[in-house]
Amino acid sequence: MKVQKIGIIGGGFAGTMTAVQLIHQSRIPCEIIIINEKETFNKGIAYNTYSQRHILNVVTAKMSAYPDKPDHFLEWVMGKKEFRKHDKTLIANSFLPRKLYGEYLSTIWNDSVSIAESKSISIKVIDGFVTDLDLSENGINLWLRNDTKIEIDKCIIATGNHIPRNPKIKNSEFYANKNYFQNPWDIESVKDMKGNLPILIVGNGLTMVDTVLGLLEQGFKGGIFSISPNGFNILPHRHNGLKYSKLTDELTENLSLYDLVKLVNKHRKILRKLGISAEPIIDSLRPHTQRIWKNLSENEKNIFMSRLRHLWGVARHRIPLHTHDKLQQLRIEGKLHIKSGRIIDFKDSDEYIMVEYHDKKEGRVNQINVSRIINCTGPETDLMSLEKKFLKNCIVKGIIKQDNLNLGIITNTETFEVINRTGKSQTNLFTLGSNLKGELWESTAVNELRDQAEKLAEKILAH
Ligand SMILES: Cc1cc2nc3c(=O)[nH]c(=O)nc-3n(C[C@H](O)[C@H](O)[C@H](O)COP(=O)(O)OP(=O)(O)OC[C@H]3O[C@@H](n4cnc5c(N)ncnc54)[C@H](O)[C@@H]3O)c2cc1C
Repeated sequence: MKVQKIGIIGGGFAGTMTAVQLIHQSRIPCEIIIINEKETFNKGIAYNTYSQRHILNVVTAKMSAYPDKPDHFLEWVMGKKEFRKHDKTLIANSFLPRKLYGEYLSTIWNDSVSIAESKSISIKVIDGFVTDLDLSENGINLWLRNDTKIEIDKCIIATGNHIPRNPKIKNSEFYANKNYFQNPWDIESVKDMKGNLPILIVGNGLTMVDTVLGLLEQGFKGGIFSISPNGFNILPHRHNGLKYSKLTDELTENLSLYDLVKLVNKHRKILRKLGISAEPIIDSLRPHTQRIWKNLSENEKNIFMSRLRHLWGVARHRIPLHTHDKLQQLRIEGKLHIKSGRIIDFKDSDEYIMVEYHDKKEGRVNQINVSRIINCTGPETDLMSLEKKFLKNCIVKGIIKQDNLNLGIITNTETFEVINRTGKSQTNLFTLGSNLKGELWESTAVNELRDQAEKLAEKILAH
């Protein structure tokens, strides 16, 4: 019998854990080929971070890489010499460094490679980047940056997070400036700060927080401005253990967006009367968000994206309390300035970059002079706008199709088969993770990806 060749494009959490699940679940020999640049292999963007201060935004007890072994990460941590003396409950409820999580994923990978050997499963990890994909009569051909061709039978696109898009400004030539950093996950973005001028962070989410911590770690002592459309105050995890089930008891099939917002507001008021903020309500919705999203009409999804997305983002993406305190302290000291507004233009001169923005609160155009700009606006999801053209090439050829909201790839979420331009399922081409955002909305965190990896492996092996 011919041994199946399964190619995985991208070896972050999603790609690595799909390979791990294939190894664990496979009963017959196969060949698994993963293509990912060496330094991010196993870890991807999130867990290959440059600082120990970048911590997980989910507690240890909820970060297992396996759906059926909920304590796997916690047990792995407790098995490490430096954690043995600590109280297990305390560690279960703490937020550990993302670097440590990267180490956890590498351990899982190394253990799985040994299992693969014992099952005659061949593993090949290629340090490279896929630039193109062709469907052939016999399977799929992948092309790497160095023009190498790889022939496989089945392919999983696990390309994950893409670097943010540049804000729209009048003078787009500015983006060649060496003091502009489009990739906020690269240590260069916070290194070698010179002079006392402030810096600008575009965006106000979790990556802004990481960047502030990175700048402080690198010894930066100047002012930091953050500009985002709403300038919401990022929230801390305050109610880790609180469970609220009253709203979910009232969830019905095919709930409209209008009814859902009404329901959330009703329960928000109930909690407010008790002096409790709304986070337990949002947490109670999490297990249902994918189903709710799938039931919304295209029009409702559009309304959500234009009016509610940012509010959902703030309520959903919270940071550990001590990190939150650190940020508030910086604000009290006048070092961190959170502004709501719209960037108009960046102009460079020899001494500084002039930032022109419309301040929403003050209702006027303001200017600030900064020494550096770091783009923390979040991963780009419009696949046609990516600088790396791999997914764009696949769209242009009609092999995959982008969803109407430009959030990801149209996919059958039961089988993970991507759907081509003509609406046909590609039975040998699959995707998971961030590429399913258009289909599921919430499809990025470990708790979602570990389930997807397990199910996808099951589907591929059952084929
Ligand atoms: C900064 C950050 C922090 C996060 N923190 C948490 C957290 O604490 N808890 C949590 O649950 N979730 C967190 N997340 C969510 C996170 O997205 C997932 O947990 C997970 O790491 C995503 O994995 P992924 O493999 O889908 O994507 P990625 O981590 O982006 O990995 C994709 C990989 O594919 C590679 N790749 C892309 N295109 C190609 C190509 N054409 N050829 C070859 N290789 C390619 C990339 O180089 C990369 O290594 C965080 C996300 C970010 C960005």
